[in-house]
Amino acid sequence: MRALTWHGEQDVRVSDVPEPEIVNPTDAIIEITATAICGSDLHLYNGYMPGMREGDVLGHEPMGEVVEVGEAVETLEVGDRVVVPFTVSCGSCWFCENELYSLCDNSNPNAEMARKIMGHSPAGLLGFSHMLGGYAGGQAEYLRVPYADVGPIVIESDLPDEQVLFLSDIFPTGYMAAENAEIEDEDTVAVWGCGPVGQFAIQSARLLGADRVIAIDRISERLEMAREHGDAETIDFESEDVYERLMELTGDRGPDRCIDAVGTEAHGTGVVGAADQAKQRAHLQEDRPHVLRQAIKSCRKGGTLSVPGVYLGRGDNVPLGPLMNKAITVKTGQTHVQRYLDPLLETIEEGEIDPSFVVTHQEPLEKGPEMYETFNEKDDGCIKTILTP
Ligand code: NAD
Ligand code: ZN
Repeated sequence: MRALTWHGEQDVRVSDVPEPEIVNPTDAIIEITATAICGSDLHLYNGYMPGMREGDVLGHEPMGEVVEVGEAVETLEVGDRVVVPFTVSCGSCWFCENELYSLCDNSNPNAEMARKIMGHSPAGLLGFSHMLGGYAGGQAEYLRVPYADVGPIVIESDLPDEQVLFLSDIFPTGYMAAENAEIEDEDTVAVWGCGPVGQFAIQSARLLGADRVIAIDRISERLEMAREHGDAETIDFESEDVYERLMELTGDRGPDRCIDAVGTEAHGTGVVGAADQAKQRAHLQEDRPHVLRQAIKSCRKGGTLSVPGVYLGRGDNVPLGPLMNKAITVKTGQTHVQRYLDPLLETIEEGEIDPSFVVTHQEPLEKGPEMYETFNEKDDGCIKTILTP
Protein backbone atom coordinates (compact mmCIF):
# COMPACT_ATOMS: atom_id res chain seq x y z
CA MET A 1 0.00 0.00 0.00
CA ARG A 2 0.99 3.65 -0.30
CA ALA A 3 2.06 5.47 2.87
CA LEU A 4 3.98 8.55 3.96
CA THR A 5 7.26 7.46 5.50
CA TRP A 6 9.96 9.24 7.53
CA HIS A 7 13.53 9.24 6.24
CA GLY A 8 15.28 11.80 8.42
CA GLU A 9 15.21 15.52 8.91
CA GLN A 10 12.72 17.15 6.51
CA ASP A 11 12.60 14.02 4.39
CA VAL A 12 9.11 12.54 4.05
CA ARG A 13 8.39 10.25 1.10
CA VAL A 14 5.47 8.36 -0.41
CA SER A 15 6.47 4.70 -0.29
CA ASP A 16 5.12 1.23 -0.95
CA VAL A 17 4.97 -0.58 2.38
CA PRO A 18 3.34 -3.87 3.45
CA GLU A 19 -0.34 -3.64 4.40
CA PRO A 20 -0.94 -3.92 8.14
CA GLU A 21 -2.28 -7.16 9.57
CA ILE A 22 -4.08 -8.06 12.78
CA VAL A 23 -1.32 -8.74 15.34
CA ASN A 24 -3.36 -8.99 18.55
CA PRO A 25 -6.98 -10.16 18.91
CA THR A 26 -7.90 -6.65 20.13
CA ASP A 27 -6.73 -5.01 16.86
CA ALA A 28 -8.81 -3.71 13.98
CA ILE A 29 -7.72 -2.67 10.49
CA ILE A 30 -9.24 0.39 8.91
CA GLU A 31 -9.13 1.66 5.36
CA ILE A 32 -8.30 5.35 5.61
CA THR A 33 -10.63 7.87 3.96
CA ALA A 34 -9.09 11.05 5.43
CA THR A 35 -5.95 11.77 7.43
CA ALA A 36 -4.53 15.11 8.59
CA ILE A 37 -1.06 16.55 9.15
CA CYS A 38 -0.55 17.91 12.67
CA GLY A 39 1.83 20.39 14.29
CA SER A 40 3.10 17.40 16.28
CA ASP A 41 4.12 15.73 12.99
CA LEU A 42 6.40 18.73 12.46
CA HIS A 43 8.40 17.75 15.56
CA LEU A 44 9.13 14.45 13.79
CA TYR A 45 9.63 16.11 10.42
CA ASN A 46 12.17 18.52 11.85
CA GLY A 47 13.98 15.70 13.61
CA TYR A 48 13.37 16.77 17.23
CA MET A 49 11.94 13.43 18.30
CA PRO A 50 14.32 10.67 19.37
CA GLY A 51 13.50 7.08 18.42
CA MET A 52 12.45 7.61 14.78
CA ARG A 53 13.62 5.01 12.27
CA GLU A 54 14.02 5.20 8.52
CA GLY A 55 10.76 4.13 6.85
CA ASP A 56 8.44 4.72 9.84
CA VAL A 57 4.87 5.36 8.67
CA LEU A 58 3.66 8.78 9.86
CA GLY A 59 0.26 10.12 10.86
CA HIS A 60 -1.96 10.19 13.91
CA GLU A 61 -5.15 11.97 12.82
CA PRO A 62 -6.95 9.32 10.75
CA MET A 63 -10.45 8.12 10.03
CA GLY A 64 -11.91 5.49 7.76
CA GLU A 65 -13.84 2.28 7.43
CA VAL A 66 -13.28 -0.86 9.47
CA VAL A 67 -12.28 -3.67 7.11
CA GLU A 68 -11.17 -6.35 9.59
CA VAL A 69 -11.48 -6.94 13.34
CA GLY A 70 -9.53 -9.23 15.65
CA GLU A 71 -11.51 -11.95 17.39
CA ALA A 72 -11.61 -10.16 20.75
CA VAL A 73 -13.00 -6.89 19.36
CA GLU A 74 -16.54 -6.35 20.61
CA THR A 75 -17.59 -2.81 19.78
CA LEU A 76 -16.60 -2.50 16.11
CA GLU A 77 -17.83 -4.30 13.03
CA VAL A 78 -16.60 -4.45 9.48
CA GLY A 79 -18.13 -1.52 7.63
CA ASP A 80 -18.22 0.86 10.62
CA ARG A 81 -17.07 4.40 9.89
CA VAL A 82 -14.68 5.46 12.64
CA VAL A 83 -12.43 8.30 13.80
CA VAL A 84 -9.32 7.02 15.57
CA PRO A 85 -7.70 8.88 18.51
CA PHE A 86 -3.95 9.41 18.40
CA THR A 87 -3.58 8.05 21.93
CA VAL A 88 -3.27 4.27 22.14
CA SER A 89 -4.85 3.15 25.41
CA CYS A 90 -5.52 -0.29 26.88
CA GLY A 91 -8.69 0.76 28.70
CA SER A 92 -8.01 -1.36 31.76
CA CYS A 93 -4.93 -0.05 33.61
CA TRP A 94 -5.25 2.31 36.58
CA PHE A 95 -4.70 5.35 34.34
CA CYS A 96 -7.27 4.38 31.70
CA GLU A 97 -9.79 3.54 34.42
CA ASN A 98 -9.30 7.08 35.69
CA GLU A 99 -9.73 8.50 32.17
CA LEU A 100 -6.05 9.48 31.96
CA TYR A 101 -5.79 7.74 28.60
CA SER A 102 -2.62 9.44 27.38
CA LEU A 103 -0.83 8.06 30.44
CA CYS A 104 -1.85 4.43 29.81
CA ASP A 105 0.59 2.03 31.42
CA ASN A 106 0.22 -0.83 28.94
CA SER A 107 0.11 0.62 25.45
CA ASN A 108 3.78 1.44 25.00
CA PRO A 109 5.75 -1.74 24.34
CA ASN A 110 8.94 0.35 24.36
CA ALA A 111 8.35 1.94 27.77
CA GLU A 112 11.90 1.07 28.80
CA MET A 113 13.35 3.10 25.90
CA ALA A 114 11.11 6.03 26.84
CA ARG A 115 12.25 5.85 30.46
CA LYS A 116 15.89 5.89 29.39
CA ILE A 117 15.46 8.90 27.13
CA MET A 118 12.76 10.93 28.92
CA GLY A 119 12.80 9.53 32.44
CA HIS A 120 9.16 8.40 32.25
CA SER A 121 6.89 6.42 29.96
CA PRO A 122 3.69 7.89 28.54
CA ALA A 123 1.12 5.96 26.49
CA GLY A 124 1.83 4.73 23.00
CA LEU A 125 0.89 7.17 20.25
CA LEU A 126 -0.02 6.30 16.67
CA GLY A 127 2.54 7.29 14.06
CA PHE A 128 5.13 8.55 16.52
CA SER A 129 8.60 7.45 17.47
CA HIS A 130 9.60 4.01 18.71
CA MET A 131 10.02 5.63 22.10
CA LEU A 132 6.21 5.99 22.08
CA GLY A 133 5.43 2.49 20.90
CA GLY A 134 6.58 2.57 17.29
CA TYR A 135 3.03 2.15 15.96
CA ALA A 136 2.73 2.66 12.22
CA GLY A 137 0.63 5.75 11.54
CA GLY A 138 -2.44 6.62 9.54
CA GLN A 139 -1.04 8.69 6.66
CA ALA A 140 -1.48 5.54 4.59
CA GLU A 141 -4.12 3.51 2.82
CA TYR A 142 -4.64 1.17 5.79
CA LEU A 143 -3.98 1.36 9.53
CA ARG A 144 -3.78 -1.21 12.31
CA VAL A 145 -5.67 0.15 15.31
CA PRO A 146 -4.52 -1.45 18.58
CA TYR A 147 -7.03 -1.78 21.47
CA ALA A 148 -9.79 -1.17 18.94
CA ASP A 149 -12.50 -1.29 21.60
CA VAL A 150 -10.99 1.62 23.53
CA GLY A 151 -10.23 4.28 20.95
CA PRO A 152 -12.23 4.58 17.77
CA ILE A 153 -15.58 6.32 17.81
CA VAL A 154 -18.23 5.14 15.34
CA ILE A 155 -19.80 7.93 13.30
CA GLU A 156 -23.41 7.00 12.64
CA SER A 157 -24.45 10.27 11.01
CA ASP A 158 -23.56 11.28 7.48
CA LEU A 159 -21.45 14.28 8.52
CA PRO A 160 -18.59 14.62 6.01
CA ASP A 161 -15.08 13.49 7.00
CA GLU A 162 -13.73 17.03 7.38
CA GLN A 163 -16.29 17.77 10.12
CA VAL A 164 -15.50 14.77 12.32
CA LEU A 165 -11.85 13.96 11.50
CA PHE A 166 -10.42 16.39 14.06
CA LEU A 167 -11.96 14.39 16.91
CA SER A 168 -8.80 12.28 16.45
CA ASP A 169 -6.67 14.98 18.06
CA ILE A 170 -6.87 18.74 17.66
CA PHE A 171 -10.47 19.37 18.70
CA PRO A 172 -10.12 17.36 21.95
CA THR A 173 -6.66 18.89 22.40
CA GLY A 174 -7.97 22.44 22.11
CA TYR A 175 -10.89 21.51 24.33
CA MET A 176 -8.77 19.91 27.05
CA ALA A 177 -6.51 22.97 26.91
CA ALA A 178 -9.49 25.23 27.57
CA GLU A 179 -10.85 22.91 30.25
CA ASN A 180 -7.42 22.80 31.92
CA ALA A 181 -7.42 26.60 31.89
CA GLU A 182 -10.43 26.42 34.24
CA ILE A 183 -12.27 29.13 32.32
CA GLU A 184 -15.14 30.88 34.06
CA ASP A 185 -17.67 33.36 32.67
CA GLU A 186 -16.25 36.88 32.40
CA ASP A 187 -12.70 35.51 31.98
CA THR A 188 -10.17 36.92 29.55
CA VAL A 189 -8.22 34.11 27.92
CA ALA A 190 -4.91 34.65 26.10
CA VAL A 191 -3.92 31.98 23.59
CA TRP A 192 -0.34 31.80 22.30
CA GLY A 193 -0.24 30.14 18.87
CA CYS A 194 -3.02 30.29 16.28
CA GLY A 195 -2.21 27.01 14.58
CA PRO A 196 -4.92 24.34 14.50
CA VAL A 197 -4.52 23.59 18.22
CA GLY A 198 -4.72 27.28 19.12
CA GLN A 199 -7.80 27.70 16.89
CA PHE A 200 -9.59 24.87 18.71
CA ALA A 201 -8.47 26.20 22.08
CA ILE A 202 -10.07 29.53 21.12
CA GLN A 203 -13.30 27.84 19.96
CA SER A 204 -13.39 25.76 23.14
CA ALA A 205 -12.74 28.78 25.35
CA ARG A 206 -15.85 30.27 23.76
CA LEU A 207 -17.83 27.03 24.30
CA LEU A 208 -16.79 27.18 27.97
CA GLY A 209 -17.97 30.74 28.38
CA ALA A 210 -14.89 32.96 28.05
CA ASP A 211 -15.80 36.60 27.84
CA ARG A 212 -12.77 37.74 25.84
CA VAL A 213 -10.13 35.87 23.87
CA ILE A 214 -6.79 37.40 22.92
CA ALA A 215 -4.91 35.42 20.29
CA ILE A 216 -1.16 35.74 19.69
CA ASP A 217 0.79 34.72 16.57
CA ARG A 218 2.75 36.31 13.76
CA ILE A 219 1.07 34.73 10.74
CA SER A 220 -1.59 37.02 9.35
CA GLU A 221 -3.95 34.31 7.98
CA ARG A 222 -3.93 32.59 11.35
CA LEU A 223 -4.62 35.81 13.24
CA GLU A 224 -7.37 36.55 10.74
CA MET A 225 -8.93 33.10 11.36
CA ALA A 226 -8.85 33.75 15.12
CA ARG A 227 -10.64 37.06 14.61
CA GLU A 228 -13.17 35.74 12.13
CA HIS A 229 -14.06 32.37 13.70
CA GLY A 230 -13.20 32.99 17.34
CA ASP A 231 -14.11 36.65 17.63
CA ALA A 232 -10.66 37.12 19.16
CA GLU A 233 -8.65 40.28 19.64
CA THR A 234 -5.20 39.62 18.22
CA ILE A 235 -1.56 40.45 18.89
CA ASP A 236 1.16 40.04 16.27
CA PHE A 237 4.19 39.08 18.34
CA GLU A 238 6.61 40.17 15.64
CA SER A 239 5.47 43.75 15.53
CA GLU A 240 4.13 44.28 19.06
CA ASP A 241 5.41 43.74 22.60
CA VAL A 242 3.14 40.93 23.77
CA TYR A 243 3.45 41.65 27.49
CA GLU A 244 2.82 45.39 27.09
CA ARG A 245 -0.18 44.76 24.83
CA LEU A 246 -1.68 42.21 27.20
CA MET A 247 -1.33 44.64 30.10
CA GLU A 248 -2.93 47.38 28.06
CA LEU A 249 -5.84 45.13 27.03
CA THR A 250 -6.51 43.91 30.58
CA GLY A 251 -6.17 47.13 32.56
CA ASP A 252 -2.74 46.04 33.86
CA ARG A 253 -4.12 42.94 35.56
CA GLY A 254 -3.12 40.37 32.96
CA PRO A 255 -5.25 37.66 31.33
CA ASP A 256 -7.03 35.36 33.79
CA ARG A 257 -6.23 32.26 31.76
CA CYS A 258 -3.23 31.66 29.52
CA ILE A 259 -2.92 28.84 26.99
CA ASP A 260 0.41 27.90 25.38
CA ALA A 261 -0.59 26.26 22.09
CA VAL A 262 2.92 26.62 20.67
CA GLY A 263 5.23 24.30 22.56
CA THR A 264 8.82 23.56 21.87
CA GLU A 265 9.19 25.26 18.49
CA ALA A 266 8.61 28.83 19.63
CA HIS A 267 9.49 31.06 16.73
CA GLY A 268 12.58 33.10 17.25
CA THR A 269 14.32 30.71 19.62
CA GLY A 270 16.60 29.48 16.87
CA VAL A 271 15.53 25.86 16.93
CA VAL A 272 16.99 23.97 14.01
CA GLY A 273 16.06 20.54 12.76
CA ALA A 274 18.11 17.76 14.23
CA ALA A 275 17.87 14.21 12.99
CA ASP A 276 21.16 13.10 14.50
CA GLN A 277 21.40 11.91 18.07
CA ALA A 278 23.83 14.50 19.39
CA LYS A 279 21.77 17.39 18.08
CA GLN A 280 18.59 15.83 19.45
CA ARG A 281 20.11 15.43 22.87
CA ALA A 282 21.34 19.02 22.80
CA HIS A 283 17.87 20.18 21.76
CA LEU A 284 16.25 18.27 24.62
CA GLN A 285 18.58 19.87 27.13
CA GLU A 286 18.54 23.43 25.88
CA ASP A 287 16.50 26.09 27.60
CA ARG A 288 13.84 27.42 25.29
CA PRO A 289 10.56 28.01 27.12
CA HIS A 290 10.02 31.34 25.40
CA VAL A 291 6.21 31.29 25.35
CA LEU A 292 6.09 29.89 28.87
CA ARG A 293 8.17 32.78 30.19
CA GLN A 294 5.94 35.31 28.46
CA ALA A 295 2.78 33.58 29.70
CA ILE A 296 3.95 33.39 33.31
CA LYS A 297 4.98 37.03 33.21
CA SER A 298 1.64 38.14 31.76
CA CYS A 299 -0.81 35.87 33.59
CA ARG A 300 -2.80 37.61 36.31
CA LYS A 301 -2.03 36.71 39.92
CA GLY A 302 -3.96 33.58 40.90
CA GLY A 303 -4.59 32.78 37.23
CA THR A 304 -4.17 29.59 35.26
CA LEU A 305 -1.65 28.44 32.66
CA SER A 306 -2.65 25.56 30.42
CA VAL A 307 -0.01 23.99 28.19
CA PRO A 308 -1.17 21.78 25.32
CA GLY A 309 1.95 22.71 23.32
CA VAL A 310 4.42 19.84 23.32
CA TYR A 311 7.73 20.19 25.13
CA LEU A 312 10.53 17.66 24.97
CA GLY A 313 13.31 17.49 27.51
CA ARG A 314 14.16 20.30 29.87
CA GLY A 315 13.41 23.97 30.18
CA ASP A 316 15.28 25.19 33.18
CA ASN A 317 14.58 28.83 32.47
CA VAL A 318 10.94 28.53 33.51
CA PRO A 319 10.58 31.36 36.04
CA LEU A 320 9.52 29.27 39.01
CA GLY A 321 9.70 32.24 41.40
CA PRO A 322 6.99 34.29 39.67
CA LEU A 323 5.01 31.11 38.99
CA MET A 324 4.97 30.30 42.71
CA ASN A 325 4.59 33.79 44.06
CA LYS A 326 1.83 34.72 41.64
CA ALA A 327 0.04 31.50 42.67
CA ILE A 328 -0.45 30.39 39.08
CA THR A 329 -1.98 26.97 38.48
CA VAL A 330 -0.32 25.01 35.66
CA LYS A 331 -2.01 22.14 33.85
CA THR A 332 -0.63 20.26 30.88
CA GLY A 333 -0.35 16.88 29.16
CA GLN A 334 -0.98 14.93 26.02
CA THR A 335 -4.71 14.86 25.44
CA HIS A 336 -6.85 12.12 26.97
CA VAL A 337 -8.68 11.97 23.64
CA GLN A 338 -11.04 9.09 24.48
CA ARG A 339 -12.53 11.16 27.31
CA TYR A 340 -13.81 13.84 24.92
CA LEU A 341 -15.04 11.86 21.89
CA ASP A 342 -18.71 11.48 22.77
CA PRO A 343 -19.36 14.99 24.15
CA LEU A 344 -17.47 16.73 21.34
CA LEU A 345 -19.14 14.66 18.61
CA GLU A 346 -22.39 15.87 20.14
CA THR A 347 -21.34 19.53 19.82
CA ILE A 348 -20.64 18.90 16.11
CA GLU A 349 -23.89 17.01 15.52
CA GLU A 350 -25.85 19.75 17.26
CA GLY A 351 -24.23 22.38 15.07
CA GLU A 352 -22.51 24.22 17.95
CA ILE A 353 -19.26 23.99 16.03
CA ASP A 354 -18.16 23.01 12.53
CA PRO A 355 -14.51 21.94 12.91
CA SER A 356 -13.87 22.10 9.16
CA PHE A 357 -13.25 25.86 9.45
CA VAL A 358 -9.51 25.17 9.94
CA VAL A 359 -9.08 23.24 6.70
CA THR A 360 -7.14 25.20 4.11
CA HIS A 361 -5.84 22.32 1.97
CA GLN A 362 -7.27 18.97 0.83
CA GLU A 363 -4.88 16.93 -1.27
CA PRO A 364 -4.22 13.34 -2.34
CA LEU A 365 -1.84 11.34 -0.12
CA GLU A 366 0.68 11.39 -2.96
CA LYS A 367 1.15 15.11 -2.35
CA GLY A 368 2.02 14.48 1.31
CA PRO A 369 5.73 15.35 1.12
CA GLU A 370 4.93 18.68 -0.52
CA MET A 371 2.26 19.43 2.07
CA TYR A 372 4.65 18.70 4.97
CA GLU A 373 6.97 21.30 3.53
CA THR A 374 4.17 23.82 2.92
CA PHE A 375 2.78 23.36 6.45
CA ASN A 376 6.22 23.54 8.03
CA GLU A 377 7.02 26.77 6.19
CA LYS A 378 3.48 28.13 6.86
CA ASP A 379 3.38 28.84 3.11
CA ASP A 380 0.35 29.25 0.90
CA GLY A 381 -1.90 30.18 3.83
CA CYS A 382 -1.62 26.58 5.03
CA ILE A 383 -3.27 26.02 8.42
CA LYS A 384 -4.63 22.46 8.22
CA THR A 385 -4.22 19.86 5.52
CA ILE A 386 -6.35 16.78 4.96
CA LEU A 387 -4.84 14.05 2.80
CA THR A 388 -6.92 11.41 1.07
CA PRO A 389 -5.35 8.10 0.05
P1 NAD B 1 1.42 24.76 14.36
O1 NAD B 1 2.88 24.62 14.18
O2 NAD B 1 0.56 24.81 13.15
O3 NAD B 1 1.09 26.08 15.19
C1 NAD B 1 1.97 26.70 16.08
C2 NAD B 1 1.73 28.20 15.96
O4 NAD B 1 2.48 28.86 16.98
C3 NAD B 1 2.19 28.78 14.64
O5 NAD B 1 1.11 29.47 14.03
C4 NAD B 1 3.31 29.73 15.04
O6 NAD B 1 3.41 30.86 14.20
C5 NAD B 1 2.93 30.09 16.45
N1 NAD B 1 4.02 30.59 17.27
C6 NAD B 1 5.33 30.26 17.23
N2 NAD B 1 6.03 30.96 18.15
C7 NAD B 1 5.14 31.74 18.81
C8 NAD B 1 5.26 32.70 19.85
N3 NAD B 1 6.43 32.97 20.39
N4 NAD B 1 4.13 33.32 20.28
C9 NAD B 1 2.93 33.05 19.72
N5 NAD B 1 2.75 32.15 18.70
C10 NAD B 1 3.86 31.51 18.26
O7 NAD B 1 1.00 23.56 15.31
P2 NAD B 1 -0.41 23.04 15.92
O8 NAD B 1 -0.86 21.89 15.11
O9 NAD B 1 -1.34 24.14 16.17
O10 NAD B 1 0.14 22.46 17.30
C11 NAD B 1 0.58 23.36 18.31
C12 NAD B 1 1.28 22.62 19.42
O11 NAD B 1 0.37 21.70 20.04
C13 NAD B 1 2.46 21.76 18.95
O12 NAD B 1 3.49 21.80 19.92
C14 NAD B 1 1.87 20.38 18.92
O13 NAD B 1 2.86 19.36 19.06
C15 NAD B 1 0.99 20.44 20.12
N6 NAD B 1 -0.03 19.39 20.21
C16 NAD B 1 -0.25 18.88 21.44
C17 NAD B 1 -1.18 17.90 21.62
C18 NAD B 1 -1.43 17.36 22.99
O14 NAD B 1 -1.96 16.26 23.12
N7 NAD B 1 -1.12 18.09 24.05
C19 NAD B 1 -1.90 17.42 20.52
C20 NAD B 1 -1.68 17.99 19.26
C21 NAD B 1 -0.73 18.97 19.12
ZN1 ZN C 1 -1.95 15.79 16.09
